[in-house]
Amino acid sequence: MSIAKMLEYQKLDRELYLLQKDFYAFQKNEKFVYVQNTYKDKMKSLPEFNKEFDDLVSQLNELVQKLESLEKQKVDFESNFDNFTAQEDFEQYQEMLKSFEDQLNAISRETARISKKMTDISYDNKRVLEQIENLQKQITQYQQVLIGKQKEMMIKAKPITDELQKIAKGIDQEMLKKYANCRKHRFPVLMPYTEEGNCSACGMYVKIEVDKHLSKPGDYTECPHCRRILFKQ
Ligand SMILES: [Zn+2]
Repeated sequence: MSIAKMLEYQKLDRELYLLQKDFYAFQKNEKFVYVQNTYKDKMKSLPEFNKEFDDLVSQLNELVQKLESLEKQKVDFESNFDNFTAQEDFEQYQEMLKSFEDQLNAISRETARISKKMTDISYDNKRVLEQIENLQKQITQYQQVLIGKQKEMMIKAKPITDELQKIAKGIDQEMLKKYANCRKHRFPVLMPYTEEGNCSACGMYVKIEVDKHLSKPGDYTECPHCRRILFKQ
């Protein structure tokens, strides 16, 4: 297999690579990644709101039960009102009444506190839902732009890939497979081996490992460090 044919392939492939690179950069656009991550975080917070709200509802239910039991105690207590005659009975009655009132006030304050928290949570929840809706709109818009960009890229890429297929007919299939695998991670794939014994891509000294495979110009082998295809010039 001639390395020249492969280099011709890579030269044209660079145009395709640059088109794809532009597209991937757009896809990984910082602002869009931020919007997506924010969207995910907001979605995650929704069940937390629900949980917090449910907790408050159960706290409120407990207070209602407390109130009912207190009312019942009070009714029972008042029904004994006729039974006392002495002054100290009356004082004890006053004290008990005061204690009921204090407990009722405490329940009332607690109820007000929980109600306020529920209102706050509902408000926050509503705000987050609005934010989610807004983020969803931004994501949809971006995705439409992305689809447009992708189409644009594919139109530009078509003549290049057609030409690449033609060149590929003159190249060994195994070599093409190796090239394609390497290209997934790095470009360019084919790099010259230097006279000093280094890979001209990663710069590592690889003479000991590769020199034996590269006896004449056009020979090629894999760089043990960056996995590119090294060829002898
Ligand atoms: Zn290398």
